[in-house]
Amino acid sequence: MFQVVTRFPPSPTGHLHLGGARTALFNWLFARHYQGKFILRFEDTDQERSKPEYVTSILEALKWLGLDWDEGPYFQSQRLELYHQFAQRLLEEGKAYYCECSKELLEEKKKKRLELGLKPGYDKTCRDKNLGPGEGRALRIITPDIGDIVVEDLLRGRIIFSADEIDDFIILRSDKTPTYQFAVVVDDITMKITHVIRGDDHLSNTPKQILIYKALGVNPPFFAHIPMVLGSDGARLSKRHGARSVLEYREEGYLPYALINYLARLGWGYGDEEYFSVKELIEKFSLERINLAPARFDSDKLLAVNTYWIKNSPSEVLLEHLLPFLKDYSIFRFSKEYLILAIETIKSRTKTLKEMAEMLHFYLVEEIDYEENSARKYLTKAIGPYLERFFLDLKDLSLEEQELESYFKNLAQTSGIKLKDLAQAIRVALTGKSVSPGLFEIIKVLGKERVEKRLKKALEFIKNL
Ligand code: GLU
Repeated sequence: MFQVVTRFPPSPTGHLHLGGARTALFNWLFARHYQGKFILRFEDTDQERSKPEYVTSILEALKWLGLDWDEGPYFQSQRLELYHQFAQRLLEEGKAYYCECSKELLEEKKKKRLELGLKPGYDKTCRDKNLGPGEGRALRIITPDIGDIVVEDLLRGRIIFSADEIDDFIILRSDKTPTYQFAVVVDDITMKITHVIRGDDHLSNTPKQILIYKALGVNPPFFAHIPMVLGSDGARLSKRHGARSVLEYREEGYLPYALINYLARLGWGYGDEEYFSVKELIEKFSLERINLAPARFDSDKLLAVNTYWIKNSPSEVLLEHLLPFLKDYSIFRFSKEYLILAIETIKSRTKTLKEMAEMLHFYLVEEIDYEENSARKYLTKAIGPYLERFFLDLKDLSLEEQELESYFKNLAQTSGIKLKDLAQAIRVALTGKSVSPGLFEIIKVLGKERVEKRLKKALEFIKNL
């Protein structure tokens, strides 16, 4: 049986950014769609730039997004032996050779070739020297001097590269570390990768990798080079465009599945549909629906997708994602039911979880503080007696919306004060602010005891004016 196997191979030289996350997502969706395998490996052979903290943060970002892997994480730095074995094979079969040209010499040669109008590639000086291993010697692969190298891309069709554009490139450096091209191929072979889905910035590497597959006598995997993500100005996506690392979006209060939804839509589409759950994405994802025009990142759109999912997610699910934002409150004093009802009243009014946590504030504190202006404007001597009336009537009132509504209407009518002023005063008394979710909803969720307590405090405040 043919099993799809994809991989995500980040270099741990930085945090996971949106472009990388999208590549991971497409590989993950493709694997999940075909019930295949998704493998994670860290390409950490660049010891200078690879940092353990980036491994940690990439792992955390993938976990948060829910992009789970079936194998790995592998680390190239722990697989050096394997690369040496494969290199040795090529050497023994006469498909690779040691090169003793020093860095300085290579630079000089390159300069000369450029001056003569020739391609800057290596001039094969050591190809026939039959050198053995030795200090300062790198291993080069023998590449064909003429002919075509054909890349069959699942998205772009056949792409032909000319052999003379590719020199005998290095596969093992003189310090015995593999180059990216070599390690990737050995990994993709030994991990039995069937589909390589990656950014089209790697397209120029593919013919080189195909030559390595050929030399090793292995069929290459299928390749799909996806268009890069660009910023709104058409330049390659960067921080400048408002794009941040995946974990920063978590801090900002984005839902992981909202980010997934948005990333999937960056370059992939399904009719005019905008919103997809992760389950739907797995069902619907296919390479043929990837758009070949570069996708442009749009932070407003991302926010709109987040807003949609906050509004349309079950409150219980939102509560789970909200917990990290509620660390400053002793929320375990409250029942889950209370928290969920509170969320219900605000979820259609917020764009991010962070905002949501701020809006939940008045539900979660024992004592509320008044916004100065709101208190001055609405908690007045004139409104005091009516607040008191409400305070006294409260114990006999039902907190159902309709009943509260007719109670307040009646109170306003019989007393001659404006319903709006009364409502605003109660709003400030209960939430500290002049803007909040619907008053009746709040009263119902807070419950009589809390409402009473807060009205009492407001009456105190008015008394002291
Ligand atoms: N480590 C490479 C990168 O982060 C991955 C290249 C590949 O997918 O082959 O761009």
